[in-house]
Amino acid sequence: MGGPVNARRLPTAYLEQPCRAALHHVVGMGFEWSLNPYVGCAHRCTFCYVRSFERRADRASDERYGRTVRVKVNIAERLRWELSRRSWQRQSVHIGTATDPYQPAEGSYRLTRACLVALDDFRTPAALITRGPMAVRDIDVLATMTAHAGATVIFSVPTLDDAVWRTTEPGTAPPRARLRALERLRAAGVNAGVAVAPILPGLSDGADSLAAVLAAARRSGASFVWPSMVRLQPGTREHFIEALSRDWPELVPRYQQIFAGRTSVPSAVAAPALEAMASLRARWGFSEQPAPRREPPAAPRQLALRL
Ligand code: SF4
Repeated sequence: MGGPVNARRLPTAYLEQPCRAALHHVVGMGFEWSLNPYVGCAHRCTFCYVRSFERRADRASDERYGRTVRVKVNIAERLRWELSRRSWQRQSVHIGTATDPYQPAEGSYRLTRACLVALDDFRTPAALITRGPMAVRDIDVLATMTAHAGATVIFSVPTLDDAVWRTTEPGTAPPRARLRALERLRAAGVNAGVAVAPILPGLSDGADSLAAVLAAARRSGASFVWPSMVRLQPGTREHFIEALSRDWPELVPRYQQIFAGRTSVPSAVAAPALEAMASLRARWGFSEQPAPRREPPAAPRQLALRL
């Protein structure tokens, strides 16, 4: 029998694979070091930018994306070795740049937590981006990092609309659960805010939709909010348009026009949403950027291990 695939019910296979390096040097991203405990993401968002990375790596970027997640089982030990090198300058490490560090596997593997503990032991600041309320589990480590070298948690919350969330993010927890997690982190003194990302033309770019997200972020105590329009690079584009033609077929011609010969939303199309965001941020006193990190203090002589 045919019919639409219910991506929420698709099983995920987990492959345990040791990694050779925990930290990856990146260029042109506004930060120098990234860390991803997993490869692939069981959240399977239809707009996921990682699909384009997968396409370039000659791996599946279609409906199969997220059905296999590779688990870097040795990443925390590897990270400790890298952080202990004399050459390590304790620059900020960005976690979750190519996968969600709080996807379901983290509940049992606890690799993100082990990496946070290692970063804290070596007084290295971190910024983490996620759609996972599981971040509250690590509130103790994040609060300790806040007191040491600094920690920032960015929750991606593009919309509060139930239908848009369920359809475009088939594997994530509800956006309001992320905001409740944010509220708890803020209460613990952790720098945490919201990325309204990705904003989808015709689905989540209306002023009312954006105002609802910012009002909820404000109630949760978000210390910053920033917007980002969707990008559809090869690999992401095909899957997103296919999902759109199933879920909102009337929007397909508009997307084909917007993304004709380009991967990002042209400024004329993005302007109303970005202007609405700027105005709401100004009205409610949101910063657009996470607070600048502190200079890392001297590394402790004795490193505690708390897993
Ligand atoms: S949570 Fe992030 S990494 Fe995971 S599928 Fe969604 S956009 Fe991709």
